[in-house]
Amino acid sequence: MKLVVRVKLLPTPVQAAALETTLHACNEAATWAAEVAFEENARRVLELRKHTYAEIRARWGLGAQAAQHAIKKTCDAYTTLKANLRNGRYGRPGTKRHARASGKPVVFRPQAAQPYDDRMLSWQHEQQTVSIWTTAGRLKGVAFTGQAGQLAVLAVHRRGESDLVCQGGKWFLIATCEIPEAAPNTHPADFLGVDLGIVNIAATSDGERHCGRQINRKRESDRKLRSKLQKKNTKSARRRAKRHAGKEARRAKDINHKISKGIVAEAERTGRGGALEDLGGIRERARLRKPQRTTLHSWPFAQLGSFIAYKAKRAGVPVVYVDPAYTSQECSQCHHTARGNRPAQAVFSCRVCGFVEHADHNATHNIRQRGWMVWVCGAQSTAPELTLIA
Ligand SMILES: [Zn+2]
Repeated sequence: MKLVVRVKLLPTPVQAAALETTLHACNEAATWAAEVAFEENARRVLELRKHTYAEIRARWGLGAQAAQHAIKKTCDAYTTLKANLRNGRYGRPGTKRHARASGKPVVFRPQAAQPYDDRMLSWQHEQQTVSIWTTAGRLKGVAFTGQAGQLAVLAVHRRGESDLVCQGGKWFLIATCEIPEAAPNTHPADFLGVDLGIVNIAATSDGERHCGRQINRKRESDRKLRSKLQKKNTKSARRRAKRHAGKEARRAKDINHKISKGIVAEAERTGRGGALEDLGGIRERARLRKPQRTTLHSWPFAQLGSFIAYKAKRAGVPVVYVDPAYTSQECSQCHHTARGNRPAQAVFSCRVCGFVEHADHNATHNIRQRGWMVWVCGAQSTAPELTLIA
């Protein structure tokens, strides 16, 4: 399976300037090539190469590989645009939006990602440096950093091209890794039901609850700070809000990694599969008072779901997605379903059989049972192909 690892470069000011000049040159060249492609109606690499290669090398000083990648990037952008036009992302043909998207050449931002292959970029994993081509010559010993676990994955499994990008004034390399998968468990003993929710970010049918009150309190204070800064709306407040948002996102990602790791490890250890609710539904499903709604929306559940999916795939743990309708109102013992079964947010109390349990826990049993049904009926796991883990 493919994984994407992002490492942060730590260039010296001189190195950073060279990287910036290079990235700008590559994107200017690609934008120019896109104009040529548009005028000449040359959207294939070989054809566009004929029209642009020599001039790109001469005018922007790109090396052979970089020029080739700039041309390919341009063609890829047109392929994506064509697919988007066909899928109706820009409205129906004949509309203004459609005409605007299809009636002019593609433009690359100066900071847009540039692909690097092994001839333009080499990795020294022990020293944590890269040697990277720039228009000012080859930069050697550019330091990089990242999480230990991800750097270990990178050192062993990196394959093919990496992208150089500049985001918010910081430099990153986004590398693709090809990770071996464990043989899939085709006979799971049972399913571990996972409920992603409001009071607990995740609860399992084993009665495990991940990150309840304490994190919610932190999420609440984050939310207050955010709205305070928003009201202030000065330049420094906006800057602070931006910095804070980055910190919040990193913390959430870290927690999502921990939760997903724990869930998958437990399923793997006990020979079970994982059952999750179909995530598309989580926001529509929850009808809440306003403060809770913001808390829910600010948690990256989709990210958590994708982390569980890729970790499960790597470990050979089957994952199924179940219909989320009424998992919180259905009694996991007698299957009586009614809104009245939930006298409070945290409490499940069946009106028919009298079964009482923590509401999240009751829901996880429903998810576990539905997961088993989905598996027996032969539905396939829909794990995403490519996951960004850093
Ligand atoms: Zn019941």
